[in-house]
Amino acid sequence: MILSVDLGATNIKAALFDENLNKIGKTQSVPTRACMGKDGIVSALKNAVNLFDGQASVLAVSSAGDVDVKTSRITYATDNLPGMTGFDFVRFGEQLSLTAYAVNDAQAALLGEVYCGAGREYKDKSIVMLTLGSGVGGAYFRGGKIIADESNMFGRYGHLTLHDGGRRCTCGKYGCVETYLSGRAVHLSAAQLGIDGEDIFEKYLNGSPRHAEFVNGLAGELKLALGAIEKISPFDVCIIGGGAADWMGAAFEKIAKGTGYPVVKAQLGNDAGLYGACVNLKSMRGEL
Ligand SMILES: [Zn+2]
Repeated sequence: MILSVDLGATNIKAALFDENLNKIGKTQSVPTRACMGKDGIVSALKNAVNLFDGQASVLAVSSAGDVDVKTSRITYATDNLPGMTGFDFVRFGEQLSLTAYAVNDAQAALLGEVYCGAGREYKDKSIVMLTLGSGVGGAYFRGGKIIADESNMFGRYGHLTLHDGGRRCTCGKYGCVETYLSGRAVHLSAAQLGIDGEDIFEKYLNGSPRHAEFVNGLAGELKLALGAIEKISPFDVCIIGGGAADWMGAAFEKIAKGTGYPVVKAQLGNDAGLYGACVNLKSMRGEL
């Protein structure tokens, strides 16, 4: 049995998987306690693992931050996971008698979708994945594997410039993809048109012209973003997931169509990272 853990800035999710990548039982979740720094995060990680005491011999990890899959270390963590730069999941696993393999969470989500979700029929194609959440995460799959480099360029699609001199981004630049397509950014765009609320996509589907203007604008931003991404990562299909994609509901298909690019919706939801961590583990052990 594989214990899979997804370390995010807010929550740590964990679930058991069999060797055929089937999830066994329910996903459990504990708070990350990132506000308490590294000690808080590590003790929360231990709590998550202990929920499945003795049921697994290997630990598959999907983690926020840049992760070197060869060493299973976090090479760079933002303030979302304070003090975690340099964290070594292999050593962490050893302390709990588990053999550990770790991968970045956006890459894990893509691996999960390729092997167990929306990307199954595109395994031999070039795939970009965008995760529209509190930020915009990205990953690139080509030639049967995740393409990564030390600068993690492919993970930074969210910080490609969409509009020169546009909205200010948390990274310090202006006009990044993230400032137009993250969940918060979508709310802001709606508010600028004098609409807002959780039901804006439903109102669009019900035929409101003002909401149609908003949704057409959103499709336009996504089209621009995909054009910028295509220049550095040519793709046959783009899988889009994350909370903002789920929020779009039935409007997603229309927005996707409006971009003119081959876009499909992610299928694994919040479990994508858990699945992908297991795929990475099996890949690193030469079992795929
Ligand atoms: Zn940015």
